[in-house]
Amino acid sequence: MAEANGGRQGRCLCGAITFAYEGKPLWVAHCHCESCRRQTASPVTTFVGVADKGFRWSEGRPQVFESSPGVRRSFCARCGTPLAYEADRYPGEVHLYVATLDDPNAVEPSGHVHTAEQIAWFEVHDALPRFARSGSRAGKPVAYGPVRRDGA
Ligand SMILES: [Zn+2]
Ligand SMILES: [Zn+2]
Repeated sequence: MAEANGGRQGRCLCGAITFAYEGKPLWVAHCHCESCRRQTASPVTTFVGVADKGFRWSEGRPQVFESSPGVRRSFCARCGTPLAYEADRYPGEVHLYVATLDDPNAVEPSGHVHTAEQIAWFEVHDALPRFARSGSRAGKPVAYGPVRRDGA
């Protein structure tokens, strides 16, 4: 079956939990923060932010872990795949992991956030803006494209 809507559907590794969203993403970005790094066990993870009105769990329901006050991280209790990030400071948004989409190529990142916490030996050679933090604290980009790191 053709997945015409593949970029708007996703699932965990075992398939017990599937989800879908409607509409265009609010934003797409790579996050280098330590919390995401630990939760995904990866140097960086890529989020797609969608409106919570258009989001639904299609099959199954995730477990929710409150990683810090007001921050809820959802994951599959069976296979452990991270599935969603929601926070009081981002009302009306659900942040999904691009790597769990049926078609990760359907969305394209427009920047990097929390590069202040980026692993020194990890770099992505795109020309996108780098923000030291995120959200209302993001400020201006610290660079466009790779940041040279001495002593790495
Ligand atoms: Zn699963
Ligand atoms: Zn993060």
